[in-house]
Amino acid sequence: MINLLDFDHDALTALFAERGEKPFRARQTLRWIHRRLVDRVEAMSDLAKSTRETLARDAEIHAPAVVRDSVATDGTRKWLLDVGGANAIETVYIPEDDRGTLCVSSQAGCALDCAFCSTGKQGFNRNLSVAEIIGQLWHANRALLADGVTTPWVEQGRHPITNVVMMGMGEPLANFDNVVAAMRIMLDDDAYGLSRRRVTLSTSGLVPAIDRLSEACPVALAVSLHAPDDALRDALVPINRKYPLSSLLAACVRYIERAPRDFVTFEYVMLDRVNDAPEQAHRLVALVRDVPCKFNLIPFNPFPNTEFRTSSRNRIVAFQHVLQEAGLVATVRRTRGEDIDAACGQLAGQVQDKTRRRAHRIHAVAAS
Ligand code: SF4
Repeated sequence: MINLLDFDHDALTALFAERGEKPFRARQTLRWIHRRLVDRVEAMSDLAKSTRETLARDAEIHAPAVVRDSVATDGTRKWLLDVGGANAIETVYIPEDDRGTLCVSSQAGCALDCAFCSTGKQGFNRNLSVAEIIGQLWHANRALLADGVTTPWVEQGRHPITNVVMMGMGEPLANFDNVVAAMRIMLDDDAYGLSRRRVTLSTSGLVPAIDRLSEACPVALAVSLHAPDDALRDALVPINRKYPLSSLLAACVRYIERAPRDFVTFEYVMLDRVNDAPEQAHRLVALVRDVPCKFNLIPFNPFPNTEFRTSSRNRIVAFQHVLQEAGLVATVRRTRGEDIDAACGQLAGQVQDKTRRRAHRIHAVAAS
């Protein structure tokens, strides 16, 4: 069976062309699936009966099945989704007064093995298909509407999800083609119609792929920085050994020329006594002086068997203060969904502790 969630506009046009159908059938079909969120070909009532019948024979609309659905006291909702082969992925909905954000996964597991990351500890299983990526958005909108979510924009007939962050499990740029196809569906006016500013891709720093993204689908860019120098970043974010800070920051500057926003967001997870000293904040200021940017300081969300601790409130505020004094915008991310383990990878990652020895090494680098 063909899964129609796998098809962006161009792929659907090609599918219909192969079958001798008119190109506008692609737009009609996209609207049924992604605007009206139907789950059956038979429901597409403005498609010619013969088209529907042919399509229904070998095509379906199929998102990953829900294994667990948890809602936190603050309204954050997390779905654990089955993607087969004993793999599960996570999708998190974060409601705010003026938006509904969905954090979307791009891979089952991740090969990049960042030291502080629960997903990284699971190792890499496989890339998600387009259907499994866009299916997260399709499913979340449907589930929220079915549960009667009320927001001003839903009352105006829009979907509950207004923003997407490609920040869930996996490195999105390591699954480039499928992530770009899924993001094109997010941006398509006949599908979700999100603006490029409302779709953010977060990368740990695959430099050549950042350049490719600026050509293929420039959306807002977030970069996981986490350290003010190569020695510490090599230990925390191992891909840094291949693409060190100088090449990463140069790629950010190039990206901004085509990006929908005139800055890059740097994410910086606050690890107690590892990367959170005021002196490290000063080095960070010097490091990014030529990059238009904002900082998002993320209190570390501990998971079983990690050796890292969350920075104290005082250390986070002191760090933030140094950045702000230097004229940088630096916000501290509000911790959401703590009672349902909403940080990336925490539900799917029932894994062994493989990081103990390495964490000791990182503390040694930080202290040197
Ligand atoms: S932080 Fe992102 S890139 Fe690093 S291991 Fe975790 S999922 Fe992969």
